[in-house]
Amino acid sequence: MKQRISRLFEFSINAFINHPLITLAVTFTMATIVILWHLEHLANEQIQTTALDNAQSYSQALTEFRTLYTSEVVVIAQTHGIKVSHDYRTKADAIPLPATLSMLLGNRLGGKQGGIKSRLYSKYPFPWREISGGLSDAFAKSAWQYLQNNPNQPYYRFEEVDGRASLRYASADLMRPSCINCHNSHPDSPKNDWRVGDVRGVLEVVIPIETHMLLTNSMLRQSFILISSILVCCLICITLALRKLRLRQLETNDYAVAIVETNKKLEAEITTRKQAETELRRLSLVDPLTELSNRRYFDEVFKREWKRAVRHQKSLAIIMIDIDHFKLYNDHYGHQAGDQCLRLVAKALNALTMRETDSIARYGGEEFVVILPGTDKVGALKVAETMREGIENLHIHHEFSPTNDSVTISAGVASVLPSVKASHFDLLKEADQAMYQAKQAGRNCVKVKDGSVILLEPGNHKSK
Ligand code: GH3
Ligand code: MG
Ligand code: MG
Repeated sequence: MKQRISRLFEFSINAFINHPLITLAVTFTMATIVILWHLEHLANEQIQTTALDNAQSYSQALTEFRTLYTSEVVVIAQTHGIKVSHDYRTKADAIPLPATLSMLLGNRLGGKQGGIKSRLYSKYPFPWREISGGLSDAFAKSAWQYLQNNPNQPYYRFEEVDGRASLRYASADLMRPSCINCHNSHPDSPKNDWRVGDVRGVLEVVIPIETHMLLTNSMLRQSFILISSILVCCLICITLALRKLRLRQLETNDYAVAIVETNKKLEAEITTRKQAETELRRLSLVDPLTELSNRRYFDEVFKREWKRAVRHQKSLAIIMIDIDHFKLYNDHYGHQAGDQCLRLVAKALNALTMRETDSIARYGGEEFVVILPGTDKVGALKVAETMREGIENLHIHHEFSPTNDSVTISAGVASVLPSVKASHFDLLKEADQAMYQAKQAGRNCVKVKDGSVILLEPGNHKSK
């Protein structure tokens, strides 16, 4: 049961979220129907209660009149020899019977009060009332039967009388002491053994309720029109409000989508710009011909490695390399061949720069520089010699070189344990001087400067 209720609740919520207007319209319509049904029910109850009250008052009034007429008029008149008869109009010195007069009164009143009718009938009518005063229909028979057993309870039904919705209200007409003699002794009385308190007849009052029902229906129609109009107005207002909300939501969504798209574009632009910056930086630090690092990069790395060497107190070595007689190479083989030669030499030198911390750069023209962090003179000399040998072994034919039949290099090595007071320019200068010494010594060799002493390493000269 709980599950069903929660499922119904969930269904209602979903329906409201997906189709708010349809859900509201259905709910409002159902609510209107329930309210109107309840109102109709209440109104009918009210009509029936009022009709019953009226019928009771009417019956009581007639009964009271009849009792009063009997005790105050009939009994006294009889003592004065006045006759009491149903056909009092045709007889002299006669007054009407209590029943006759009360019926007359009932009909007179009923005519003035919206068609209320009253009738007095019995299973034992006097002969002159046999037609109008007997148990003429099913209701009369049932009422007689019921009141025999329940003389103090009314018997009633709501049913059509002469084609009009009406209340038929029957109450017991009890035999009274003032009436019993007459009834038991009257020569025309159909029954002579009446006792006081016997149900001698039925007083039926018919109260039409159709007019009230028509009035109620008209009121309900008006209420329906009023409630429906209010609900339709509410629905229109809700529709307008929802439409506005939806428009606002769409605007917000569009705005959010625009922001997201702009962000994406910006991010893409930033990425492209970063890539461009990286590429630019790479290009600004790379020599386009040899694809080695350029002089600018060398300056940055050299300063950095110098500071690191000062901090860690480790030696730092530099090798300055210069291609021998490269002008002659260019002059004889052409500039393009010269470029190609530069590329080959650069590639070979790069390949011989073994350690990860080592770095090589094109210093300018046909000159290269190698930085060897944590390397002393002996180590740097070995690297320089390996490089010299490596280039010679490339066997790039250089017919016009006075030094060798192939392209060679001269290298100057300098190494130092740097201090804060010293300058990295001095180390570079020393390497340059050592390289100059190598040139002086006939090229295709490696030289090192130790303090002011220049050590000559065994070169690899070949005389032409
Ligand atoms: P040395 O043995 O004394 O070093 O003589 P060298 O001829 O090599 O030295 P020099 O300084 O007289 O000449 C260097 C030449 O290098 C001059 C120039 O034509 C050439 N050169 C410099 N940069 C480039 C380059 O990018 N491409 C080409 N093809 N040649 C270059
Ligand atoms: Mg040079
Ligand atoms: Mg040169």
